[in-house]
Amino acid sequence: MKIRALSLCATCLLLATPLMAQIDAKTREESRAILQQLTEINTTDSVGNVTTAAEAMAKRLRDAGFAESDIYIGGPNERKKNMVARLHGTGAKKPVVLIGHLDVVEAHREDWTRDPFKLEETDGFFYGRGTQDMKASDAILMLTMIRFKQEGYKPDRDIILALTADEEGGTSNGVDWLLKNHRDLIEAEFVLNPDGGGVETEKGKPVIVSMDASEKLYADFELEVTNAGGHSSLPVPDNAIYHLSDALVRLQNFHFPFELNDVTRAFFERTAKVQKGQTAADMLAVTRTPPDQAAIDRLSKDPYYNSTMHTTCVATRLQAGHANNALPQRATANVNCRILPGHSREEVRKTLVDVIADPKVSVTYVTNGMKVIANDPGNKSLPPVPLKPEVMVPLEKIAAQMWPGAPVVPTMATGASDGVYTNAAGIPTYGVCGLAIDIDDQRAHGRDERLGVESYYAGVDFYYRYLKEVTAAR
Ligand SMILES: [Zn+2]
Repeated sequence: MKIRALSLCATCLLLATPLMAQIDAKTREESRAILQQLTEINTTDSVGNVTTAAEAMAKRLRDAGFAESDIYIGGPNERKKNMVARLHGTGAKKPVVLIGHLDVVEAHREDWTRDPFKLEETDGFFYGRGTQDMKASDAILMLTMIRFKQEGYKPDRDIILALTADEEGGTSNGVDWLLKNHRDLIEAEFVLNPDGGGVETEKGKPVIVSMDASEKLYADFELEVTNAGGHSSLPVPDNAIYHLSDALVRLQNFHFPFELNDVTRAFFERTAKVQKGQTAADMLAVTRTPPDQAAIDRLSKDPYYNSTMHTTCVATRLQAGHANNALPQRATANVNCRILPGHSREEVRKTLVDVIADPKVSVTYVTNGMKVIANDPGNKSLPPVPLKPEVMVPLEKIAAQMWPGAPVVPTMATGASDGVYTNAAGIPTYGVCGLAIDIDDQRAHGRDERLGVESYYAGVDFYYRYLKEVTAAR
C-alpha cells in the first residue's frame, strides 16, 4: 500500500466535487456482498487462510459463467493458494493482468473499537481490516470481471485476474510463486495493480489522481560493534556502545543526494499546479537544472517530499550490552533504507561505511527483511516504468469525467508492493486505483481501517469504465 503523496494546506483545495457512482442497484448490492465476504474471511498470516478467500472468489466467477478451465487455484501450501482467472478477448493484443493481494495485516480485536473481521457500515464508512488495503480493490476487480462476463464483453486482449497471498508478510508471496511456477498463466504486456495509486482527497475534495509508476527499493543493514568487554568498574575508551552511538549520529547528520527521475519530476511539475504559494514555487524550482537548493531544503521538511527526492536510511532498532555491571561486548543497530530507482543495495552499503568512517563498525546487508527482490540479481532498484499511452490516456479520460480538475499525477511509491516482482520479471506495472481516500484518513495497516461507502462505489464504477477504455477494440 502506498503512502500518501500529498500534503496540502486548506487553501489549496479545488472546488471540484466527485460525481456519484453511476452503478445500478444490483451492482451496488453485489459489490457490497463481495466486500463483506472478503472482509469476513480472515487472511492474516498468523491465523488466517488465503485459500478460503481464493476459493470463495473462484466460486463466484464460476457462478458468473467463467469456465472451469479458465480458473486456476494453486500455491505452495494449503493456506496460501492463489486464484488466477482469465476473461478471453479477441487476442488482438497481449493480455493485461490485474493483481490484488488477498492477505491483510494483523488486526487485534482489543486494539480496535469494533471487530476488524466484520464489515460494518457506519456514518458513511465501511469499517474492517482490508477496506483500504486492499480487499475493497480485490472486490472491485472481481466485480469488473463478473460484469464483463455477464455482458458478453469482448476486450481486445485477455484480461487476467490474479488474487494472491503474502504481500504483507509471510514467506509464500503469491505473485513471486506464480511467476516462478506458472508464468504462462500471468504472462502479459502490462500489469495494473490497485495496491498503488488512487484519488487523493482533502475533506472530500479530489486533489490529484495518482498513478504509481515507480517504487523505492527496501533494504535493512546491521551496524555491529564488538569489544572484549570487562568489568564496568574499570572502563576503557574503546566501548562498543560509544562507537555505535557515534556512528548513528554521523548517519543522522548525513543526507543522500537529491535526485529526480522521470516520474518524480512529473510528480512535482504536475503537483505544483494544484499547490499554491511557496510550495508550488519550490516544486517547480526543484525540477529546474540546476535545482534550487533552498527549495530542496524547504520541501525536505515534509517527510513524503523528502523521501521522493532522496534515498533515506534511518535507525529503527538498537540493542547493546548484556549486564548492568559489565562493559558491552556487542552493540548493534538496524538501519532501514529506501533506495531510489537506479541504485543498488551494495552502493548504499558502501555509502554507509564511508559516512560512519569507523572500521570498528561493520555494516552488513540483512537478507531476512521483507521484500527482498528474488528475481533481481543485481539487487538494484528498478527504473520507473515507461508511461504507456494505453494506460495513461484512458486514465486521464476517465479521471477527468469522474474527478474533474484533479490531474493525473505519476508517483513513486515510497513503500513497496507486489509490483517489485512483476516489474523485475519485465512486465511493467502501474498502480491504478479509483478509490478516494482523504490524506488525513490513511488507515492502511492501522486500527479502525475504513473506506467511504461512496468512495467504494465510485471505485467500482471507475474500474469498469477504465478497463473498458483500456481494452476497447479499436
Ligand atoms: Zn497492500
